[in-house]
Amino acid sequence: MSSFAETPATALADILARIDAARKAALRPAPFTKLVAVSKTFEAERIRPVLQAGQRCFGESRVQETIRKWSPLRDEFPDVELHLVGALQTNKAREAVELFDAIHSLDRPKLAHALRSACDCVGRCPDLFVQVNTGEEPQKAGVVPDEAAAFIALCRDQLKLPVKGLMCIPPADEAPAPHFALLAKLARAHEIPHLSMGMSADFEMAIRFGATHVRVGTAIFGTRH
Ligand SMILES: *Cc1c(COP(=O)(O)O)cnc(C)c1O
Repeated sequence: MSSFAETPATALADILARIDAARKAALRPAPFTKLVAVSKTFEAERIRPVLQAGQRCFGESRVQETIRKWSPLRDEFPDVELHLVGALQTNKAREAVELFDAIHSLDRPKLAHALRSACDCVGRCPDLFVQVNTGEEPQKAGVVPDEAAAFIALCRDQLKLPVKGLMCIPPADEAPAPHFALLAKLARAHEIPHLSMGMSADFEMAIRFGATHVRVGTAIFGTRH
């Protein structure tokens, strides 16, 4: 956990060093591991030092909050890359396609259809990650593992959506490793190159299982209120 005196910029350097070390320690790390700095709920003045320290990839969980915070920040830092890591309502698909470079929460047929229409309207499509509910938790978003094959086929083959990765959020009260292993196995089976897995508490473990995208919030920005 971050010490109290730590600034977001020094916390960032620490996380990048830990990512590097975890990749070196891994038997078969992914070809790259990208840090998605999850800045949801934090305001621009807390995000700016992390941008100034060189971080360019950020995760947000809400469309309206992203527009409000990032419209001005993007003027200052035009090469920033924004990833949606939270649930997406179908009526926000169009805005999400305009705003985000990647969406990590493609989790149901209705959203897949909405994204197809939105990408056609806008003329571009973000990289998409299919969210898998590896713990089969009733309250959690994502397709269950048994339904992953059919859902990936719908998105990729039928709707021609750019499915670049799989994403999971392991159950809070379980060891994450089996969930990361399951996600990696599904990705291999479907020849999907990217794996979005690992958060502040478990990103090093996720890297051992081949994470290409780790989504780290608290360990950089501090506790959310
Ligand atoms: C908030 C969030 C994160 C970041 O979690 P931390 O524990 O703060 O690192 C990662 N992924 C998703 C989907 C989130 O909603």
